[in-house]
Amino acid sequence: MSSASHRRLIIIGSGPAGLTAALYSARADLAPLVLEGIQPGGQLTITTEVENFPGFPEGVMGPELMDRMRAQAQRFGADCQFRTVTGVDLAPQPFQVSTDDAAYTADAVIVATGASARLLGLESEMRLMGHGMSACATCDGFFFRGKEVVVVGGGDSAMEEANFLTKFASKVTVIHRREGFRASPIMLQRVKENPKTAMVLNAAVEEILQTEGELAVRGVRLRHTQTGEIWEYPCDGVFMAIGHEPNSAAFQPYLEVDAQGYIRTRPDSTATSVTGVFACGDVRDRIFRQAITAAGSGCMAAIEAERFLES
Ligand code: NAP
Repeated sequence: MSSASHRRLIIIGSGPAGLTAALYSARADLAPLVLEGIQPGGQLTITTEVENFPGFPEGVMGPELMDRMRAQAQRFGADCQFRTVTGVDLAPQPFQVSTDDAAYTADAVIVATGASARLLGLESEMRLMGHGMSACATCDGFFFRGKEVVVVGGGDSAMEEANFLTKFASKVTVIHRREGFRASPIMLQRVKENPKTAMVLNAAVEEILQTEGELAVRGVRLRHTQTGEIWEYPCDGVFMAIGHEPNSAAFQPYLEVDAQGYIRTRPDSTATSVTGVFACGDVRDRIFRQAITAAGSGCMAAIEAERFLES
């Protein structure tokens, strides 16, 4: 990579973690390069209203919040580029980072690549993705006006998506594999109180059923997780909301990760197993996964990267 352009600090990812790291490191005169990735702004850009980011008492739209974070980082000299990292080599110093059309070296790297929606792994799920099957209510809810949809999952994401989908769909059924919920009581309550929702509990989705002769969804095949009973539940759309996977594949040859693939960082630190490489946000957090905790860890990563570069 002789033609690689050199940067002191490269930040990979542009969600709240990456852009907060960019803001702090830009204000520390490190002129960070931010490689924004395939979803600039991260997961909040596919959310509607964010009600729990401090400083916005009336709430703020996810995409607007991310645009503001980017603008704030750019104001202090962050170089944000719409490029996606295709490969890294974190073994030598300087580290090597490449995209489709560019190659860089860096003295320090902050990994802020976040997490992506988890799927069940069914063949029918992939075949029907975008044809009645979705992992993003905010993106696709609009297409289900007056239709019946199901949301799979029992966490806050499932509740948020179910509530949101009632704006369009005539009926929204939450399908969850057990009786207990991970969702917070307030989110669960909102769904239960919504007259357009229903719940099917102790049910696992075994198959997404396709309309004959057409690339469309006609229902799901369910299995009762206690009795083993199998039945079909008709619907026009299926929204998967069963959690997320960390986007750490490119880094796994170099950085220590846990059993689920989350990058391991030292206690009270964003330092990874490679000196000079820091990780922040959802790619290293399987517990909190909030915009504000991601932003907080982005701040930590920038401060630690700055200290590392000074030393
Ligand atoms: P989550 O809390 O991990 O919940 C995932 C849900 O999917 C669980 O109910 C889980 O069931 C189910 N599930 C997982 N794998 C499954 C499978 N293979 N088949 C069927 N069901 C499966 O994930 P999340 O809802 O995406 O939330 C992640 C984090 O973001 C949480 O900390 C949450 O509080 C936060 N969040 C907050 C908000 C908000 O405050 N506005 C909105 C969205 C998310 P089991 O319970 O049986 O494991």
